[in-house]
Amino acid sequence: MIISLSILTAATGIIGAAFLVARGYNDDLARAEGDLTNLALSLQERTDGVFQSIENVLRDVVGRIPQACLQAHEFDGFAAAQTTKAILVGACHSLPQIVRIDLVNAQGRIVGSSTPRPMSDPIYLKDTAYYRALTTDPSLTLYLGEPMRIRATGKKVLTLARKIDDTDGNFLGIVVATMDLEHFERLYKDHLRTPSQAITLYRRDGIILAHCPISERALGRRVWRPNTPLQRLIAKNIPTLIRDVSWIDRKERVVALHPLAHYPAGISVSRTVAELMAGRRLESRLIAFFAYLMDIGIEAATLLGLRHVRTGILRAASESYLSRHDVLTKLPNRLHFGEDLKRTFLASQRSGTDFALLLLDLNRFKDINDSFGHGAGDEIVQTVARRLRERLRKTDFIARIGGDEFAIIQRPVRNRQQVIDLITAIQSAMRAPCTAGSTEIDVGLSIGVAMASTDGKTSTELMKAADVALYAAKSDSSSSYRFFDASIKDSRAERRALEGALKSALENKELDLFYQPILDLATNQIWGCEALARWKHPTKGMISPLQFIPTAEESGLIGPMGDWILEEACSTAMTWPQSLKVAINLSPVQFRSRDVLASVKKALEVSGLPAQRLILEITESVKLTEEATATLKKLKGLGVSIALDDFGTGYASMSYLSSFPFDKIKIDQSFVRNMLDSPDSRAIIKATIGLAKDLKMSTTAEGVETEEQLNALRLAGASQAQGYLIAKPMSREAISAFITNLQGAQPSKRDGQGPTRAVA
Ligand code: C2E
Ligand code: CA
Ligand code: CA
Repeated sequence: MIISLSILTAATGIIGAAFLVARGYNDDLARAEGDLTNLALSLQERTDGVFQSIENVLRDVVGRIPQACLQAHEFDGFAAAQTTKAILVGACHSLPQIVRIDLVNAQGRIVGSSTPRPMSDPIYLKDTAYYRALTTDPSLTLYLGEPMRIRATGKKVLTLARKIDDTDGNFLGIVVATMDLEHFERLYKDHLRTPSQAITLYRRDGIILAHCPISERALGRRVWRPNTPLQRLIAKNIPTLIRDVSWIDRKERVVALHPLAHYPAGISVSRTVAELMAGRRLESRLIAFFAYLMDIGIEAATLLGLRHVRTGILRAASESYLSRHDVLTKLPNRLHFGEDLKRTFLASQRSGTDFALLLLDLNRFKDINDSFGHGAGDEIVQTVARRLRERLRKTDFIARIGGDEFAIIQRPVRNRQQVIDLITAIQSAMRAPCTAGSTEIDVGLSIGVAMASTDGKTSTELMKAADVALYAAKSDSSSSYRFFDASIKDSRAERRALEGALKSALENKELDLFYQPILDLATNQIWGCEALARWKHPTKGMISPLQFIPTAEESGLIGPMGDWILEEACSTAMTWPQSLKVAINLSPVQFRSRDVLASVKKALEVSGLPAQRLILEITESVKLTEEATATLKKLKGLGVSIALDDFGTGYASMSYLSSFPFDKIKIDQSFVRNMLDSPDSRAIIKATIGLAKDLKMSTTAEGVETEEQLNALRLAGASQAQGYLIAKPMSREAISAFITNLQGAQPSKRDGQGPTRAVA
């Protein structure tokens, strides 16, 4: 009796001590676990994004198989054709992580490949896991293969295979992308922060696809030992945090698991318990004991049906951390920032010390997201966050307050010079390009500054002042930062005024369309005209579309305005000879927020213009999502042509071009302007024309102002030219006169088909 009582007292004592320590420990641990969980989540998103972009490429390849070839005996022929090779090579080059793409027929033989070597002996892949899986399981359309080494090069690779069905739904073959495993290893390696940290990409059956720190032993084996909590949790496929002994290094680890959203795989991020507890040896022993007791408890709880008891406790502790931090960068979020700004403001009023509030915004972040995908955007935000944080003192505060917006509280500051010094340091840190995947991207920052002592009576006013300064910095091309002063005009107030004026302009018919002729270089005759919007302002005169189209896009006015432009331009074109076409610019916003297909159909119907006479110009800022591509395809289905405008000025021109079968490329005027002096511009023009010919697209060179340019373009093989040399944009009446004049001069006017057949 006495003995058992003392045991009980001792046990309660130990549990009590362990519990107290555990509470202190929980603060640190909660943070560390928050970090692990966040990292698992963000790597999950990134990895998912990589697989998605690869799957899109595969889907695109399949989408290009002509209907007629979707029959077993035609498939081999299609796969072996030279044009198919070009498709596969293009698809392979569209993403840096793809090593090769192969087409495999129903018999398991490689019938087409992106690799340059011709295939002498037939290669059969019947033994590959993906062939077996995709041929035996009818419900499976996609297969993520295990890691392998290419014998010839020693390169470690993964495969993503997609089934191809014929028109009746029968198995026809497989398209396989072989991916460079190093791409994943590099991505994960960049996120290793502590010596004990490990990051694993596993397939849902537990096979390790990639592991960092790189371990040959781990690759291709299973993450779990049978009958362990890890095995059970991976099978459940939900994000969790657990503690388990790793069989790779046999150490006890805290592991954050996160399944990928769209693929049968997941990310695990872990650190050893020993490292988490470093410097707390006695405590860690107690904790170990505590954990042991809890494990016994867990076994018991499991029996009672209460699972994840400990995980629940750990997660609760990390939740308060998560609600105040940004998942991606781990910086404080907007909520946390607001509280801190208030506190700092009051403290500074009390003590009389000054501080500076800096708002920072990435330039053209939307373009980066649109061109490279959100994965790349995320990577850039993380890099910027890291670079900013490295430039700050311990007393300063930094938060991520929006997608591409950061806020810094620089405290305390003695004078403006100190703020300028910080800005200079930040800007020199941003001079190095940021890497996203294997691309290097220059990222600029605009900064608005407000000083607590002069620019606001409350923290809210101070925030508003910094915001106005930021806007001024953004619209001022000569400097990337601005301090608030009362003379800065609130450019957004101006914009609102412009919006209002634009709205009434649309109602009062102050908008107009001008038309610029485009010359066909093969026949030397006018091919058609591009419609260009103009605003005839009653007092300010003619306003350029470069000024009002962005405002129309931001305010949503581009919707009705775009519809009007389509109808007006189509009906004007009806007054021209039938051989002339009309080119109309479409804004990316029209694509995102409007039923463009319906608008175009309506314009064609109302005007009576045959679809074959209409060509729509889009730029790379139209993101080619599946939905957008489908819309473009439907437009082409109507008979309308699609041109890629301003080619060469975006970030991803080449990959963009391979994502949709455009009819025409418009070479940006910047290349034409420089072509006589700059060998680079000449090379780009030549390459673009060559590429367009290979892809059966026509080319229009824009901004042709001199005879020399025109001759050089003719020599280079451009199909058409547009520019002041031929004619400036002109009103509806003027273009009519211009055309009539030309017809008088060219008795051999043609009817029906225009000369550039590739565009029809
Ligand atoms: P863009 O589509 O690249 O149009 C060509 C621009 O180059 C036009 O400017 C045209 O006047 C100008 N241009 C033509 N030839 C020459 C030349 O030889 N030298 C020089 N320096 N410039 C030349 P504009 O009319 O000011 O239009 C500017 C941009 O505004 C257009 O660029 C287009 O992106 C946009 N835009 C114009 N109209 C519309 C419209 O109806 N809808 C939409 N969404 N955007 C439009
Ligand atoms: Ca255009
Ligand atoms: Ca253009």
